[in-house]
Amino acid sequence: MQKLVEGIHQFQKDIFSSKQRLFEGLIEGQAPLALFITCADSRIDPSLLTQTEPGELFILRNAGNIIPPFGQMNGGEAATIEYAVSVLGVKDIVLCGHSHCGAMTGLLEPDNLDDLPAVRGWLSYAEATQRIIRENYEHLTEPAARLTATVEENVLVQLEHLRTHPSVAAALARKEVTLHGWVYKFETGRVFTFDPSAGQFQPVEGTAVPSSSPDLPAI
Ligand SMILES: [Zn+2]
Repeated sequence: MQKLVEGIHQFQKDIFSSKQRLFEGLIEGQAPLALFITCADSRIDPSLLTQTEPGELFILRNAGNIIPPFGQMNGGEAATIEYAVSVLGVKDIVLCGHSHCGAMTGLLEPDNLDDLPAVRGWLSYAEATQRIIRENYEHLTEPAARLTATVEENVLVQLEHLRTHPSVAAALARKEVTLHGWVYKFETGRVFTFDPSAGQFQPVEGTAVPSSSPDLPAI
């Protein structure tokens, strides 16, 4: 806890003072660029990853970046999504899974959840992910590859759940919101985004590559 308290002192002394106008401006309200949905895992820092400032990301986090389909659970997820889309008018929703996800490992090894009834219940909203892996990925026997596939498939499953939320469905119909499926590999810093036309996750590359060098290889 000491580290956290010392962090507050450092924040107030160094960070807040250097960005005081930004922080004071936040009192006017918020107009975030995106709703960012990701796992509660401590190894993910959405603002650091996207280099965004306070006020720019509306963040929803839980174990496994899971979104219960609308109507199955009137919880914080539904309320957060509804507020972000209907009130804040976010134009983009990013649903970001990640490498080495403990929740996804739990999906693959449900026997380890015997003493975690709340986790087990929560993971029932990823039942489709589990079934997709079980029925379609028999050829993947290597645990790391199996986990990666689970993380990716779960992002796609949860995006489908996201579409069941009326505020999202209506905004999609008006073409006022775009959904993005990401996987963040924290050990390399790389982010992969689902490309519907390719049917697979592709690396997100910076757009700042000079146009005169179109043949630069992917880093
Ligand atoms: Zn996770």
